[in-house]
This record gives sequence, structure tokens and C-alpha cells, in this order.
Amino acid sequence: MSERRIKILPESLSNQIAAGEVIDRPSSVVKELVENAIDAGATEITVIVQDGGKTLIQVVDNGSGMSEADALLAFERHSTSKIAVQQDLERIRTMGFRGEALASIASVSRVELKTRTEDEEEGTFLLLEGGVIRQLSKTAFQRGTSIAVKSLFFNTPARRKFLKSHQAEYRHILQVMYRYFLPFPEIHFRFYRGEEEIFNLPPDTLENRIARVFGEKYGQNILPLQFETGAGAVRGFVGNMDLFRTSRGEQFLFLNRRYIQSKSLNWAVVSAYESMLPKGNYPFYVVLLQIDPEKVDVNVHPSKIEVRFEDERAVYGLIYRAVKEALLQGGVAPVLRAPDPEEDFVTVPLAPQRDTGPKPGQGQAATFAEREPDPQKELAFQFEFRDARRTQQQEEGSSVPEQAAKPRQVLPEREPAEQVSVWQLHNKYLFSQIKSGLIIIDQHLAHERILYEKALKLFRDARPVAQQQLFPKTVELSPEDFETLLEMQFYLSRLGFVVREFGKNTVIIEAVPAELRNRDEEKVLREMIDDYRQNKEPDIRDSIAKTFACKSAIKAGDPLT
Ligand code: ADP
Ligand code: MG
Repeated sequence: MSERRIKILPESLSNQIAAGEVIDRPSSVVKELVENAIDAGATEITVIVQDGGKTLIQVVDNGSGMSEADALLAFERHSTSKIAVQQDLERIRTMGFRGEALASIASVSRVELKTRTEDEEEGTFLLLEGGVIRQLSKTAFQRGTSIAVKSLFFNTPARRKFLKSHQAEYRHILQVMYRYFLPFPEIHFRFYRGEEEIFNLPPDTLENRIARVFGEKYGQNILPLQFETGAGAVRGFVGNMDLFRTSRGEQFLFLNRRYIQSKSLNWAVVSAYESMLPKGNYPFYVVLLQIDPEKVDVNVHPSKIEVRFEDERAVYGLIYRAVKEALLQGGVAPVLRAPDPEEDFVTVPLAPQRDTGPKPGQGQAATFAEREPDPQKELAFQFEFRDARRTQQQEEGSSVPEQAAKPRQVLPEREPAEQVSVWQLHNKYLFSQIKSGLIIIDQHLAHERILYEKALKLFRDARPVAQQQLFPKTVELSPEDFETLLEMQFYLSRLGFVVREFGKNTVIIEAVPAELRNRDEEKVLREMIDDYRQNKEPDIRDSIAKTFACKSAIKAGDPLT
């Protein structure tokens, strides 16, 4: 007989391998446990995480609970109560159905389960380690289930090594929590970081839930979605332009209350904003799609985050029109004609309508459009030389002389000071003479570079020049932004930001770096948070220095004296 080299893997090992697909970090454990609680019909769900979920993730629900026999089965692979026959797969109405989450989680952690059903006197306690049952006993417990996952990846060092910092994993978990807070506003969620209560969200309307999760500012700047076609229905809210952010992350698309990602459907939302949305900005949205489960396939991805539609084009049209309609109703979108359902959706940038009289929000739309660069103007390129020296004399004592002087520091081999002239061209470039000829400087880039060097220097030694705010500004942040800000705070203070914690997720900006005088400090701070989070820079100092420099440097288009 020939030699056999192929063997069937022991179950514990095959479970660990399978776990790699669904459980790749603490947030995926949170996802699976919360989904199980929802599927169990819970009306109250509490989530507790410690150390970014690395040492503890616990989810407690008041759902159906499990009998002892079910509890034992639940940790087997391919064990599920949610589907039984092939046809069930064609019409999934639960969050889970693959029967692999608990087996996967248990194989890479230590799990403690407590559970009791309605008609049992006593509950079941189960302790598992690396997927192996270590203890089974009876316990007193309320109806429902509590699953505590401890020491995640204790037996898979390779996976553990790839985990990010506590804070980064914690932020991931927050992002996952939003995916349940939003489509299930009728469920009472509590979320704790260690002992600290981060969220307590009693049953509410979606609108109020949004305001509670993201802050009052969001509650006041969202427009309701409500639209239906043969393809399905859309509900939810979209943000107006006050909620535009420069980083992704606040776009929530749900299919039958399951969070999904889809480039094309995201584009359906975004393109409805047309030219209102400046490049590099992202709108806030919570879009809840309702489509007959038989017309979608949610089983194309282990984490079910990508789905397939029977008719994606129709779904695209449905979303586009829902959002367009909401923006129109809210008076946010300037428009010349109603969208025609028969037509393909070609987006044409439209000029703001001025003859219809002010509607709420529309005034804002107009100013926004005006701020957009005008290609016509760009073409009619005019040389507008200004003698910086003369202007400076005329405006002696005005507010920005030092800013104008700064770019000169980068001039190599410059002429003796009295002879130097600096001209500004098109509010964008500086021209000056140097010994060997002419130098052209991009004012934004030059200033950015100077501020970057300055920031690094401030981190090293000197005291920053803070500008005390006449009216300290209170800013309410999402827990995620708040968390990011805390991470940045030490370095921000070195730059001259005095940001004080003021209650939950709220800060007061008491002072800003001198460079940020006369700027919208809240906007700059939010942009810095966005930037910092996107920045993959391994060095936190470098990352903050760059962000600060970019956000506070004078911009192209700023006239200089
Ligand atoms: P799936 O959710 O795909 O069925 P899981 O491995 O996540 O697979 O869970 C296996 C089974 O354990 C579920 O089908 C369900 O019957 C039971 N179960 C898991 N979590 C809970 C819970 N919180 N409450 C009640 N039953 C649960
Ligand atoms: Mg599940």
C-alpha cells in the first residue's frame, strides 16, 4: 500500500483554522456575541470590554437562553438553531446561521457561559478553554445568557501578535457597536469600558438614538429617508453639509438590519449629494434597506459584510432616489427638476437656485457652492502681482504680518533684507528674487513645512505659544472621536491646544496654538482627529505634527499681506 501523507485534522485544530476567518480581532467577537443576543430576541443587551477586548469581552442578554443540552451543542462546529433545511438558506431572517461563531471563539479563548431558559429552575454554567469543556455545573441565573470571553488568542500567538494597541482595538469595537445601536433602536444597549459606562441607550426612535450616540449636533442636522419602489424600501437618515467629515467612518448601510458594505451602494448615496459634497468629504448617513430576503444572498462572505443582490441596479436607483428626495425635502439640495425615474442617473453639478426665496438650509447650500473653486475663474488667469513690502507698510500692525514673513525663512541665499521683494500670485504662489535668480514658493506647502518643523521642535523642548480663547468653546464628540482626542492630547498640549475634559465625550477648547487664531477651532480639531486616525504613521509625534501643519498652514487662496 502506498504511503498516506494526508490526514483529517483533529477538530480542535480545524476549529482554530476556521476561527481565523470569522474571529480576527476582539471586535469580531463582540459582533458575533451581540448578533447571537439579538437573534435570541433580547430587549436588553450589555457589553463589557477590558483592554480593548483582549482580556475580557462579556455580553449579557435577556433573550431566550439555552437549555443545558443546547448550551453543550452550541460550541460544536456547524451547530445552529437558525436553519435546518436547504430552503432556509434562501430566506435568512436571523443575523447568524452558519453555526460556527461560538465554536471559533471558544477555540481561541477561555469562555464562561451562564444561561437559563424561561421554564428552567436553574441555569447552566459552562467553562471552556481552547474549545475544551473544563467545567459544567448548575448555577443561579436570570433568564437569558451571559458569555464572557477571556484571554482572547491565548493559544494562538501569531494572531495575538497582530493585535493593535488597546485603544485601537477599543475603537474598532465602538465602530462595531454602532452597527447594532443604529438598526435596533428598540433594544436597550449598555456599553462599558471596564467599570466605566460609555453608553446607556434606552429604547428610542432612530432619530433620538442617532443624537444619543453621536451627539446633539447630529440630531439637529439629519434628514429623514423614506422611499419605496418595487425593489424594496429605504428608511433612515442622512446628514446635511454640517456633518460632512474629511474621513470615512460615519456611513452606515444596513440590509434588513444587517450592516453591509458596498462600494456601489455607497456611491448611490454619495452621488445624490452631487456638487454639494466637496472632494475628500464624506456625508453622514444611516441607510436602512429593506429587501425581500429571497432577493439577496448574504452567504457570500464569512462575516456576511458583503452581500449579493438579485438586481443591484434597482437597489442603486432606490437608494439614490431616497437620498435625493430627502435632501430636496430638507431644502438642502439645489435642483432644477425632479428626478425622473425612467432616466439613468447622471449627476450634473447644478448651480444653486436663487429665485425661490430662502428655505431652511438652502442658504447654506448657496454659500457652499460659492466657496467651491470656479473653473471659469481659474481659466481667466490673471496676474495679480502685489508688492508685499509695500502692502506690509500700509497695513502695519494688521493681524497677519508674521505669517507673511514666515515663508521667507525658506528662501535660500536670499538678498539682503531691505532689497527683498515678495510677490503673491493668484493668492497661491510667492515669487521672490534670490542671488541666482527667481524662486517660486507654494505658500501652503512652505508654511506647512515650517509648522511641521516647529511642531517637532515643540515636542522636544520649548513652551508653546497658546492663544487663550476669549470664549472657550464646548465641543461634543462621539466616544470614538473623544477616545482619539485623548490619545492625541499630550502632544496637542505641547502644540498649544488647551483642551479640557468636560463631562462625557465633551471637551472645552480653552486655548489654541497661535497659528490657529481666527480659525474655526472646532473644525480644525475635528479635522485633526480625522487625519490622525487615517494616518498610518507609526510615530505618533510625526503623525500629529503633520496633521497640525497641514490643518493650520495658510491655504492656497489666502491673500497675504
Ligand atoms: P449561529 O448564530 O450561526 O447559529 P453560533 O455559533 O453563533 O451560530 O451559535 C450557535 C447556537 O447557539 C445558535 O444557533 C443559538 O441557538 C445558540 N446561542 C448562541 N448564543 C445565544 C444566546 N445569546 N442566547 C440564546 N442562544 C444562543
Ligand atoms: Mg451566531
